[in-house]
Amino acid sequence: MKRVISFILIISVVFLTTVSSVYAENRTGTVPDGGSLPADASSTGAALPDELPADTGLPGNPSHSGKRNAAGEPDGGRRLENIDFFTDGLYETVNISAPGFTDYYITELADPARIVIDLVDLDVPEGQGIIRTDGAYVKRIRYAQFTERIARVVLDVNEGYDFSIVRTDTGLTAYVREHPAPEELRKDGVIPLGPEYGISASGHGMDETVTIALGGYDGYSISRRTDPERLVVTIPEAYVSSGAKRFDYGGERISSLEYAAAGRSGAEITISLNAQFRYRAELSDGKLVISFSWPTYKNIIYHNSGDRIYFLIKNAALTKGTKDLKPLYTASADESGRVWTVTFPSQNADLGEGVLDINDEYLESFEVKNNGDGTTSLIFTGRRGNSYLVYTRDSGDTAITVVRPARKDQRIVVIDAGHGGTATGARYGDLYEKDLNLDIARRLESLLKSKGVQTYMIRSDDSNVDNYERAYIANMLGASLYLSIHNNAAGKSSVKGTMTLCYPSTKSGFTGRQFAQIIQERMVAALKTTDLKVRLRPDLIVLRETYMPAALAEVAFMTNRQDRENLRNGSFRQTAAEALCGSVMEALEKIA
Ligand SMILES: [Zn+2]
Repeated sequence: MKRVISFILIISVVFLTTVSSVYAENRTGTVPDGGSLPADASSTGAALPDELPADTGLPGNPSHSGKRNAAGEPDGGRRLENIDFFTDGLYETVNISAPGFTDYYITELADPARIVIDLVDLDVPEGQGIIRTDGAYVKRIRYAQFTERIARVVLDVNEGYDFSIVRTDTGLTAYVREHPAPEELRKDGVIPLGPEYGISASGHGMDETVTIALGGYDGYSISRRTDPERLVVTIPEAYVSSGAKRFDYGGERISSLEYAAAGRSGAEITISLNAQFRYRAELSDGKLVISFSWPTYKNIIYHNSGDRIYFLIKNAALTKGTKDLKPLYTASADESGRVWTVTFPSQNADLGEGVLDINDEYLESFEVKNNGDGTTSLIFTGRRGNSYLVYTRDSGDTAITVVRPARKDQRIVVIDAGHGGTATGARYGDLYEKDLNLDIARRLESLLKSKGVQTYMIRSDDSNVDNYERAYIANMLGASLYLSIHNNAAGKSSVKGTMTLCYPSTKSGFTGRQFAQIIQERMVAALKTTDLKVRLRPDLIVLRETYMPAALAEVAFMTNRQDRENLRNGSFRQTAAEALCGSVMEALEKIA
């Protein structure tokens, strides 16, 4: 059976799905029209205000700018913090600052025309409000807590508008402008994409394809992303029209399609896949047709979702040992330095052969090649010269990490969230050390990034990494600092407090010991925990094997009731991250 689902058909389905999922919490089961709520609104959430509340806090300057700031303490929670409106040339821009919301739904409604944006898992601290904007298209912005979980922002607009909505680091940005006629766009060499234009998925199983009508334009690029698996098609000169942004296909290979404006111009079409498929892209009749197939090699998965870019190869013996790491392969680079080849006895791993097209920031492609002489080669074609750490873990799996060493003027801070994957670290009931470590590490990462510090997360998900591997990656990076984050456990539940571990180095200059001292003082001062001091640990791999100043923070004891309650609290973990951030900043100054 041949299935063809196009945007034109799917848009109504998406609309209904959206509405039903958003309004599932509506006890009456009626579908509100978005601008106002059903008669029994009191049972379902706050109705949107129709009149300007007395305390809108609108600025005196009517220069097309409305601004609302939410009062209250930052708690890492998900709240509507701010809505900004400004006009700039063709565009009227609405910035919704709402860090941490999980999802969003857009509904367009007519009579009167409005764009309803529902943000899931978001609080509106002041309940509701109105911003008058005076835009040519955006007349006013209303916002309210719609249900317990959903914050609703409504843009009241004039007819003849068009819009696109882009997810940003801290929220959403809506661009509203005059609806351009497709002919006009084409005249300007821009490809209009939208519900009325041609993006479609079709076929079943091995015949599944995505077709994008590009009118012969070949300036697109296709890039692979992992965790979850997807391909991103970037079209620099496209105009994304309003309407559907995402729909499920539910195929064997293609799970969904999504398209979004990439900034003001340009489009990104994301094809979500059910596995790490190869793809083939062809331009035919002016259309870009992408088809998918299984890689012909086996036991290899590529990961490029975090800082650590790596191939995980099941049951492959490519190195031996830990402290003295012995390669069981030979490696060579071509003249350009971009192509790196690892060759080893075929009996060391059962891989078959084949190619994976990647086209991300690091790699163009990857190939497994059987040389026919009892050896197998892995061929990495990089964007430019990469370094590669080959490491066979205790588990028998090999990880090949793609590393871009720091330039001379670059300082990289490695953040090591302790444990991960099957290595859970300490555990107390449903509380896992690996999760606490990662949570604090992520908070630290975002704090440091906001200060312009370049960070490298050893893991940003729940994956395994061996300890030697962690140290070797940091060394290969040429990192300036190494900070490992852990939490403690003891046999006696009365033991509590904070300690920082370091290697008893005799080096001159700024050492891990000084770094640890800074961390210990700042953590105890901020967290008000028991001071268990800096401890010298000659035995810890990540401290001993790293070349740069390294320290390991043991934030608190999971086995102590008071410490544990603290650790369960997001604001405590945030405070810990802030203390660690301050420590890194101070250390970076001292390294100079
Ligand atoms: Zn630990």
